[in-house]
Amino acid sequence: MSVLVCFHAHPDDEVFGTGGTMRQASDAGHRVVLVTATDGAAGEFPEGILADGETLTARRRDELAKSAEALGVHRVVMLGFSDSGMAGTPENDNPEAFANLSVESAAQALAEILVEEQADVVTIYDSYGGYGHPDHIQVHHVGKRATEIAGTTHVYESVMNRDHFRELVKANAQWDEEDAPNIEKIGVPADQITTELQVGEFIEAKRAAMVAHATQVGDFGPFLDMPIDMLRVAFGREWYRRIDGTNSGPMETALPL
Ligand SMILES: [Zn+2]
Repeated sequence: MSVLVCFHAHPDDEVFGTGGTMRQASDAGHRVVLVTATDGAAGEFPEGILADGETLTARRRDELAKSAEALGVHRVVMLGFSDSGMAGTPENDNPEAFANLSVESAAQALAEILVEEQADVVTIYDSYGGYGHPDHIQVHHVGKRATEIAGTTHVYESVMNRDHFRELVKANAQWDEEDAPNIEKIGVPADQITTELQVGEFIEAKRAAMVAHATQVGDFGPFLDMPIDMLRVAFGREWYRRIDGTNSGPMETALPL
């Protein structure tokens, strides 16, 4: 048995990039630990979705637990740092926000978990955090430093495949030109990817994880409307780049668990 630790910024980030990876590792008998840096308190949510007196933070913790269960996760750790919000929002100015913390102190908190769990493989994000969100960028720096402190052997950046994403956007009629994300800044080009996992057989679990994050229906809704076969085409592969940057050999098809 090996131990896989996936480090993410917010509750819900675990689904797209690493959901199939976690389910696959869990089904293969490995221990899977999901660590989330922030509480997701700056997330948007539909009016009226929270019960009387319920906080968004409490709800998102419950949603994360349900998502983790669907993905076969054995342990969820919320580090509980404050959500920094999207770039340019007022939450960015909070000195306590995750993105504003010193990398060293935040990394220490994660490193303790990596040591305790004797993590074999750790996933973080690339240095642009996939699409530039301050918390996602911080996950890269904090995750990288924590794995140095803990002496983790195998560190991978969970990345979006820019070339695949470009095709998705082209195929998605719901995005007109104004709404479409700036693809040239998102993810990494296919030729920088070192590892591609086929996780189409776990698409039902990924879908269940999307459903679990009910407050995030604004993000997941369009995908939940897709037929499952289309969802499998969109999210049936997950991509990584080894942190050491070497990409000379053939494409890996599994993490070293
Ligand atoms: Zn996020």
